[in-house]
Amino acid sequence: MPTLGFLPRAPRVALAASFFLTLALGPAAGSVFAAGPAGGRQQVTRLPATVKLGGVSYTDARGQFAQLGYKSSYSPDAGALTLSSGASEVVFTVGSREAKLNGLRLFLGEPVELYKGSPVVPTIDLDRLILPILRPSRVGRNAIRTIVIDAGHGGTDSGTLNQARKLNEKTFTLDVAKRLQALLADGAWKVRMTRTDDRFVELSDRAEFANNAKADLFISIHFNAVAAGSDVRGTETYVLTPQFQRSTSSAKSGPEDKVAYPGNRHDSRSAILGYHMHRQLLAKLKSEDRGYKRARFAVLRLVNCPGVLVEAGYLSNNGEAAKIANANYRGDIAEALFAAVQAYDASMGLPPKAP
Ligand SMILES: [Zn+2]
Repeated sequence: MPTLGFLPRAPRVALAASFFLTLALGPAAGSVFAAGPAGGRQQVTRLPATVKLGGVSYTDARGQFAQLGYKSSYSPDAGALTLSSGASEVVFTVGSREAKLNGLRLFLGEPVELYKGSPVVPTIDLDRLILPILRPSRVGRNAIRTIVIDAGHGGTDSGTLNQARKLNEKTFTLDVAKRLQALLADGAWKVRMTRTDDRFVELSDRAEFANNAKADLFISIHFNAVAAGSDVRGTETYVLTPQFQRSTSSAKSGPEDKVAYPGNRHDSRSAILGYHMHRQLLAKLKSEDRGYKRARFAVLRLVNCPGVLVEAGYLSNNGEAAKIANANYRGDIAEALFAAVQAYDASMGLPPKAP
């Protein structure tokens, strides 16, 4: 694992993020109106576009979404703010890092707060996660030529285990990777694998392989585990934590949050990719939604392209392990990942016109 000090400081993500920031700070002068719970129009107290609370930048969610044509309804008792466009719905809860986006569990960097009676949402979450997902065509097309599939673990690193059933994560990650490779290879994409057999590959070498292959998309496949006997099951999807934000599992901010990694240049596109991955996996597998989360996993930090890491299920859960051990279920996982690549590719609009 590389130490933080050896990593180049990437420039702050510029294009897409600055667009959304402009939107956030744009001509919001005047009162903002939004539909109330009964459908009537109510005046929303006008807030500054962004405020600092406890050192964190927050954005007036209702004002921001009103500019995007969303209707809002806020229930002070539940602390729930629902923003709806007809096509998409976002639900924030005051005091919580957990939001719902089109029915999916989504984890924010910081909890939603109340400012002068109005819910405010962490600005980084809006700029780098939610708005790119809701308006992918504004992000700019990711012309995909090469996709790198990363089968987690291998060789001496077995990954997680189900001891009772003698199941290894490394076996199933490679199997799903090969199934996904076969599906993707039928398309117009060049597909490369960080490993094609049972061998150990360093995390940094996986990212370096993708960078040398000039990958336009990086998909890392894993299976999860907790202490044996636990009832925990379900699907998690991870993208790289943006700079200046804490990861989903971090209880508080740390020095690592300040570092910009190569992968952070692709935050907006990774956000869109992760959304489609999580959505397709849950739709196909009907598994429990453990959340769309963010972490600074080495492979995600170091790749020079949009990247995602999926934890498709829990090997530690006997019921889920039995499913994962079934080839048809692994085929379903690969099909979900394939459908997500297609949805991601289609979400950012038409390919650029040939010169
Ligand atoms: Zn793993």
